[in-house]
Formats: sequence, structure tokens, C-alpha cells
Amino acid sequence: MADPSFFKADLRALEFDLFEQFRLPELFTAAPFDHISEEDARLILKEAHTFASEVIGPTLGPTDREGCTLTPEGVKVPGAFRTLWRQYYENGWNTLELPEAQGGQGAPRLLGVAVGELMSGANTAFHMYPGLSMAAAAVIRAFGTPEQRELYAPKLESGEWAGTMVLTEPHAGSDVGLSLTKATPNGDGSYHISGNKIFISGGDHDLADNIVHLALARIDGAPKGTRGLSLFIIPKLRVNPDGSLGEPNDVTCTHIEHKLGIHASATAALSFGENGGCLGYLLGGEPDPGEPSGEGMRRMFHMMNGARVAVAVQALGVASTAYLNALDYARTRLQGAHITRGRGDKGAVPIIEHPDVRRMLLEMKAIVEGCRALIYHTVRLRDRARMAQGEAAEALEDDYSLYIPLVKAHVSDMAVHVTSTALQVYGGAGYTQDYPAEQYLRDARIFPIYEGTNGIQALDLVGRKLGQHQGALVQRFGKEVHQAVKAVQAHGAFAAEAAVLAGALEQFNAVLGRFLQLSLEGAMERVALHATPFLDAMARLAIARLLLEGALRAHDALQQAAPDSQDALFYQGRIAAARYYANHLLPPAVACLQAMQGEDASPLDIPDGGFSLAF
Ligand SMILES: Cc1cc2nc3c(=O)[nH]c(=O)nc-3n(C[C@H](O)[C@H](O)[C@H](O)COP(=O)(O)OP(=O)(O)OC[C@H]3O[C@@H](n4cnc5c(N)ncnc54)[C@H](O)[C@@H]3O)c2cc1C
Repeated sequence: MADPSFFKADLRALEFDLFEQFRLPELFTAAPFDHISEEDARLILKEAHTFASEVIGPTLGPTDREGCTLTPEGVKVPGAFRTLWRQYYENGWNTLELPEAQGGQGAPRLLGVAVGELMSGANTAFHMYPGLSMAAAAVIRAFGTPEQRELYAPKLESGEWAGTMVLTEPHAGSDVGLSLTKATPNGDGSYHISGNKIFISGGDHDLADNIVHLALARIDGAPKGTRGLSLFIIPKLRVNPDGSLGEPNDVTCTHIEHKLGIHASATAALSFGENGGCLGYLLGGEPDPGEPSGEGMRRMFHMMNGARVAVAVQALGVASTAYLNALDYARTRLQGAHITRGRGDKGAVPIIEHPDVRRMLLEMKAIVEGCRALIYHTVRLRDRARMAQGEAAEALEDDYSLYIPLVKAHVSDMAVHVTSTALQVYGGAGYTQDYPAEQYLRDARIFPIYEGTNGIQALDLVGRKLGQHQGALVQRFGKEVHQAVKAVQAHGAFAAEAAVLAGALEQFNAVLGRFLQLSLEGAMERVALHATPFLDAMARLAIARLLLEGALRAHDALQQAAPDSQDALFYQGRIAAARYYANHLLPPAVACLQAMQGEDASPLDIPDGGFSLAF
């Protein structure tokens, strides 16, 4: 008997966001997306849902239990993935966002993230393999020489080969500039690579004929720190000029991690050039004389920015299915008496009738819908940048970059919160392997860690993005929230919520002023101290705004819907979630923003020994 699929998705919610609030079809009015229609997009979404539910979904539990194994021939992934990998590519899911010129469907990122949420929600460990491969291909397309593009990109895009992103070393995690991996020129355009990398997702596996590593290494004599790093193409098996495979390239998987979650994703330690035989090729070929240093990191950032949004999409996918599974359980699990109506005819009522369970369910719904709105808003900026020209395009790209740390950090943190809350809804059953809740929680725990820990995202926000263009990005952010407050006030149905949002914006602006003052005083460590709660507050502000904008649409649509119809229920749900968010999930951020303006710096002031005398 086939394994059950626990995957659940709320397609109506995705359709509301895509078509009613974020107006996907507007992107189809101009190049490069004008070959797609709304009908196409709706069909793609439905097919993605079917594929995720019926093909990927049943692999979730079994592949988690089977995990990956390191054998003398290399890493073996769970057997089901080999079939799934083929089906994924045969069904063309790899081509969704590829430009038409590369044989793709050229869809905007907005549609891509909707599909990505479904695939990741069904089995996030699986979706990492094609996701990283497509990202590697995109970097080679963006920065590779014509020969490199031709040699590597099509095979990475077709699934014949797979790709990775290789930064981390045992002593160089967040501080990637400490990297010791060396690249010594051979004088023929190739480099001899030597070094050890750890924690590489998909670093070795048996899904594809070859693995193309995109790895950071330091060319002999290059400066220390990140500005001396270059990005290399290092294939697992050497590639002949005609694209055929040659001998092994001295890349060895020395170990795979045994870890909390995503068991089916191989997390590999790789040794490059252990026997002196590893060849790497500088992405983009030899630098022109005078080319600025630090190109490796800049190019890696191209991949990492996309990957940071992809982590948020993974996190959303897992959080959403965890919430919907918990909702399903809450409707059927009978336990306890209703607080006012008593036990009912079954001796106990479904737990969904208890106020505390309803609170957990609505909190999860509001967070999932809010995080989805945050991601859609972010990637829509990128899509619009691709449709625009000149300064308008640059401003949109800048705004997109401001949102990247917000989506990566906030959505990943919320995925841990939502999956933990979902497990709580089950009681003891959630802690067992009889339900997928425990796996969702385990799988979600990596999201705040990789692709730059959330602490590093917060530093990126306060240390770089806030000050960019003399604060123009964050000023635009504040202006948009202000405009949203005005629009919600003018509408009238959500006056109380508009007031909370207005108050939050006021505190947000006050903290920005305080940050500026601290920076001028040279007290950057006090800014850094507040970076994480500030990021959280800013993300909540953005989400409350987006949910309230959605609630205005839902409110108006509700007036047109037949009473008790599916549409009426749906719009009532959207309104309830937006109200809950503004009234319960935004105020803690306001309190945090207020606290940040105080003088307390206890974490800095406490002596190291004061944390504990235990050792
Ligand atoms: C399952 C898994 C898959 C991964 N996949 C990949 C991959 O495909 N490719 C790859 O290259 N790497 C990968 N990684 C590595 C991952 O990106 C790193 O673990 C992460 O960047 C953190 O580095 P670290 O583990 O060395 O932690 P550390 O850098 O040691 O950080 C420890 C703690 O200190 C904090 N910290 C560190 N520096 C600062 C600072 N300056 N300011 C404030 N706080 C700071 C961090 O936020 C964190 O809380 C993966 C890791 C795992 C576990």
C-alpha cells in the first residue's frame, strides 16, 4: 500500500494572495512575462498542488526514516528520491522560472514561490536538491564565461547534473572570510584546489551523474578576509571540453551529518584535493587587470540572496502544512467539555471548540498568511524590477534587498513557532511518529540557522540595509506603511487595527532615530544588541500592513458573497486573521520597540562570569 501523504495546502488562500491581493496578472502585461496568461498561472498552480500532494507528499515520512548513507561509492539518498528526481524534471518543474530562451516557461518569481511553497511543504528535504542545482546554474548563467555557461548550465538545469553552494568550513561559518581553502593557479586557466568544507547540502549523492560545486576559495597571495575570496566551479567528476564526463576530480565526501531534521537531505563534509588532484575553474574566467577584489563574495551573494528567499519559502511550506494538519486533527479529536455548552452527545467535544485551541489555530493561520504576504510582496518587487528600466528598476531592486533579511529571518523563526504550536494542538500524539507534526518541527529548526543565521540577517539589516542610500530604503518602507495606515483609516472597517499599526510605526520611527543617534555616538554595539528584536518588529509591522490591506479587499468581497457560501467563510477567515494579527501579534513588537528606546544594556554590562559560576 502506498504511504499516505500528509501534505495539505490551502489553494484558495494562495489564489487570494496571487490574484486578488498581489495581482499576479499585472505582471503579465509587459516583458519579460507577457507570454503568460492568468489561465496558465492558475493551471500551473493546480498541477503543482497535484504533484506535491500525490507524488512528493507520500515520500515525507519514509525518506526521513531511511535518511542518507555514506558508502564506499559515495552518499546514497533514500531510494524514493531517485524516482522522484526523474519525475520532477520530466514534469518540467525545473523550467518554471527559467527564461524562455533557455527552454523554460519564464514565469515570474511570484508564481515560482507559490509553487515552491507547495513542493517544499510536501517534502522540504527533497526540494533542496533541485533548488540548489537551479541556483548554481543561475549563478553560472549570470557570471560564467560563454564556455562555462554552455558546459555547465544546461546540464544543471535539466537535472542531468546537480549543484551545490560551498562556503562553510569548520572554523569559518558566519565569518566566511576566515576561509582557508586555497586555489593555486596551474597556468592553464585551471586552479589546484585544496581545503575542507563542512555542512554542504547535497554535497554528495546519487541523484545525478555529476555534482558541480560552486565553492569559495582564496587564490594564492589574495588578501585576507572576504575580499580575497573567489568563486570556483569544481565538478565532482571532471568535465571534458565536449561535455562528457572524465575522471574523478579528487573531491571526497568524508562524512555526513546525523542531525535533528531534514534527514533525507545529505549534509556533507567535503575534502577538496586530498591527493593533490582537484581542479577548479574561476567563475567568469581570469579577472581583468584592475577588477575589484571581493568578486567571489559578490557573486556568491547573487546565489545567497536567492537562496535566502528560498529558505523563507521552505519555511512557509512546512509551517503551512503543519498548521493545516493540526487544524484537521482539532476537528476530529474529541476531548473535554465545552466551556459553556457541556459535553455534547459524544461525551466530549472536538478540541477545536476549546477557546485555547481556537487561539492556537488562529495564531498559526495569521502567521502563515502574514508570512506568505511578506514573501509575495518581496518577490513582486524583484519581478517589477525586471519589468522596469533605469532608476525605477534600481529602486525596486534596492527595496527587494531591504526585505531579504526580513523574509529569511522572520519567516524561518515563525516556522519554528508555528510547527511547535501545531504539535501542541495534538497533545501527546503530536510528539509521536504517528503524525507528521514532530517531523515538521524537526525539519523547520534548520531554517533560522543556514543561509546566514538569523543573527547575521539582523546585522545585515541594521548594519548595512538601514543606512543604504542615506536611509532612503527604510524611509520608503516607513512611507508605505504610513500610506497603508491612511488607506485603512479611510476604509473605516478596521479603525482599531489601523490605530495599532499607526502606533507601531511611531515607535519604529523613534527607534530608527535612536539607532542613528547611537551610531553617531559610535555605540554600534548597542545597535547590534537590538538588531534581532528590531528585525522581528519591522517584519511584524510589514506583515500587519499587508494583512490589513488584504482585509480591506476581503471585507469588500464579503459584501458581494452569498451568505454562508464558501467565499463568505473564506473572507471572514481572512478578516479574522488580519484582526488577530494587528491586535495580538503586533503589540508585542510595539512593546519591544518601546523597550529598545530605554537605556538598558544588561547583556553588554553583565560580566562574562556573571552568566553562571558553573564553570
Ligand atoms: C543542515 C545544514 C545544511 C547546511 N548547508 C550548507 C550549504 O549548503 N553550504 C554551506 O556553505 N553551508 C551550509 N551550512 C552551514 C550554515 O550556513 C552555517 O552553519 C551557518 O552559516 C552558521 O555558521 P556556524 O554553524 O559556523 O555558526 P557560528 O558562525 O559559529 O555561529 C554561532 C552563533 O554565533 C552567532 N554569531 C556568529 N558571528 C556573529 C556575529 N558577528 N554577530 C552576532 N552573532 C554572531 C550566530 O548567529 C550563531 O548564533 C549548513 C548547515 C547545516 C546545519
